[in-house]
Amino acid sequence: MLLRPEIASLAAYAQGRVPPSDGFKLSSNENPFDPLPGVLDAVASSTALNRYPDGAALALRDRLAERFGVGTAQVHLGAGSVALLSQFINAAAGPGDEVLYAWRSFEAYPGLVTVSGASSVTVPLLPDARHDLDGMVAAITDRTRVIIVCTPNNPTGPVVTADEFERFMAAVPSDRLVLLDEAYVEFVTDPSHVDGRALIGHYPNLVVLRTFSKAYGLAGLRIGYAIGPERLLNAARSTAIPMSVTDLAQSAALASLDREDELLARVATIAERRAQLRDGLLEQGWQVPQAQGNFVWLPTGIHTPFAIDAFFDAGLAVRGFVPDGIRVGVGEEDSVGRVLKIAQQVVDHLR
Ligand code: PMP
Repeated sequence: MLLRPEIASLAAYAQGRVPPSDGFKLSSNENPFDPLPGVLDAVASSTALNRYPDGAALALRDRLAERFGVGTAQVHLGAGSVALLSQFINAAAGPGDEVLYAWRSFEAYPGLVTVSGASSVTVPLLPDARHDLDGMVAAITDRTRVIIVCTPNNPTGPVVTADEFERFMAAVPSDRLVLLDEAYVEFVTDPSHVDGRALIGHYPNLVVLRTFSKAYGLAGLRIGYAIGPERLLNAARSTAIPMSVTDLAQSAALASLDREDELLARVATIAERRAQLRDGLLEQGWQVPQAQGNFVWLPTGIHTPFAIDAFFDAGLAVRGFVPDGIRVGVGEEDSVGRVLKIAQQVVDHLR
C-alpha cells in the first residue's frame, strides 16, 4: 500500500472561510489590528533572504527566557505553536500510545495525533463548556503518553482555573507529558485562571505553549514558543523540521516584545469588544459560555449549518463546528454590531 491507511483517510486541516471584501473575517481568531509600530521596519531590515535563518534563534530565546525567569535552554521556538504541538506529540507518543484531550477543543489536535501514529482519547467538555479535568484524570491509562489542556479553550472560551490545574497536575503521573496550550492567554481577564508562567519549574512533565499569532498579531509570520524542562524541549528540537522559524518572524517577535504597552492596550480593546459582544448575545437569549479568548461560542446545535450561512450571507465569515456550534472572532470595531444584528435574526428565525 502506498499510503498509511490512517493518513489516506485523514482530511487536511481546513482553514477559516474568507468573507467578501466588505465583510469581516471572524473565522480564524486573528487579531484585527495591523502589526505593532516598529514591527514592519524590523522585518524589512531582516532581509538576508538568500541565507537560512538562525536556527538557534538566541536573541529571541534569550529575551523570552528573561521574561519568564528561565534559562535560554528552557525556551524553544516553532513555526507557530501548532508546529510545537506536533513536535511534542511526536516526541512522546507513537503507535499504540494514547494522547488525551478535551473535546471540543482545537481542531488541529486530532490530525496531529493521527500523524504521530498514536490514538486520540477525548473527554467531553462539561455542560458549561469547561474542561472536565476529573474526567480526564479518570481517562488516563497505561498507554497515555501526552495530555493536552487548552486554556482558554478554543473554540468554547472558558479557562481552567489555577486551583483546578494544580489538583490535576497532582493526579497526573509525572511520566506523562502535559502540554498547556495557552494560545489565547493574553486575552484572559478572569483572575482565577491558570497562568503557565507561574508554573514553570514546578513540574518535570509540563510544557507551556504560547504564540505570537493571536495577541501579538503575527499569525502570518508563523512563530510560537514553548517553555519547559530542557530535556523535554530537546526532544521537541529533535522532531522539528529544521530551520522552519524564519529570521523575519524572529525579528518581528523581538520588535513586538519591545511594544508591551501598545500590545496591552490592544488586548484590552479586544477584551472590551468581547464583553460587548457576549453581553449583547446573552441579552438575545444565547447561552454563551465564559469567553476568555478573542472569540465567543454560540451553541447553535443542529441549526449550525443554517447559522453559518446566515452570517456568511451578511458578510461575516465565522467558524462552524457541525453539529455543536459556531465560533465568532472578536474583530474590528464595526464587526461587533453586525454580528449582534445577525445573531438576533438567527434567534428570531429559530423561535
Ligand atoms: N493552539 C490553539 C488553541 C489555537 O487555537 C491555535 C490557532 N488557532 C494554535 C494553537 C496554533 O496557533 P499558531 O500555530 O498560529 O501559533
